[in-house]
Amino acid sequence: MSSNILEIKNLKKYFPIKSGFFSKVSAYVKAVDGVSINIKKGEVLGLVGESGCGKTTLVNTVLNLIEPTEGEVIFDGKEMFTLNKKDLRDIRKYIQIVFQDPFWSLNPRMLVKDIIGEPLDVQAGMNSLEIVPKVEELLEMVGLPKEGVYKYPHEFSGGQRQRIAIARALALMPKLVVLDEPTSSIDVLSQAQILDLLGKLKEKFDLTYILISHDLSVVSYMSDKIAVMYLGKIVEYGDSRKIFENPKHPYTQALFAAIPDINTERIEDIATLEGNVPSAINPPKGCRFHTRCPKAMDICSKDEPKLITLSDGRSAACHLMK
Ligand code: SF4
Repeated sequence: MSSNILEIKNLKKYFPIKSGFFSKVSAYVKAVDGVSINIKKGEVLGLVGESGCGKTTLVNTVLNLIEPTEGEVIFDGKEMFTLNKKDLRDIRKYIQIVFQDPFWSLNPRMLVKDIIGEPLDVQAGMNSLEIVPKVEELLEMVGLPKEGVYKYPHEFSGGQRQRIAIARALALMPKLVVLDEPTSSIDVLSQAQILDLLGKLKEKFDLTYILISHDLSVVSYMSDKIAVMYLGKIVEYGDSRKIFENPKHPYTQALFAAIPDINTERIEDIATLEGNVPSAINPPKGCRFHTRCPKAMDICSKDEPKLITLSDGRSAACHLMK
């Protein structure tokens, strides 16, 4: 049996663009265009790419928050897109998300016991007598005092609020947790502590993470594998250490080369790539990166390179890899 907790097969998400009096579909934004990735149980997959490359749409489609256009997502052996509503609800409790900014993701008018207790009530059917001690246990699990149950989010620091968000995400003991920029809105000291906590919780509960981050130091610290996305497609994918040490795809090389110190820089800060990311409505023919690639050849504007497996096990989509 496969040890993959998640298999994404040829996933596509196109958003229709309507125009004219009859709102006819005139084009599509191809936000995710044929992505295939496997994640093994206990792994951390880092998703890397400039803003607008399709990372968030990919994750939202996998989480079933938006409908796919095409493709399959198999989570823990079950094909997600064929499940009925009840089975989908059941399976969703095993997939949770921790958002970027705990200030916005936690309802400021709710007590911590209700914030963390909500999934215990709604999805696990626990009563209020059971919920409070469980929330206390979860608070201690993320390094907060159990007395926090009767406090509001604003009574905590940014780092502590992110711990509350993590406690809520782990309340139902998920198998897969999506970490969407989990440290980008908190101070540097708290960032290190949150990363340490996430690492410990992963080991303790055998969790699998998908990590979205613009911070390459966080991605290299946390990830076992990385997937580099450009205009809705994976351009390089494989062992994180190998890719960070020796990126093969020209786009990955440009991302990393632009960063003098991987420990301090974020992807938004890079300026070495010429031009902007082209529109996903009308992506360049051939290799989507050819309009910005310093190594582009004639073939690159005609034929789209396939994602092929290289001798060291990673995959890359580039005509130079043949
Ligand atoms: Fe650059 Fe061509 Fe490779 Fe695309 S296929 S990354 S344009 S060399």
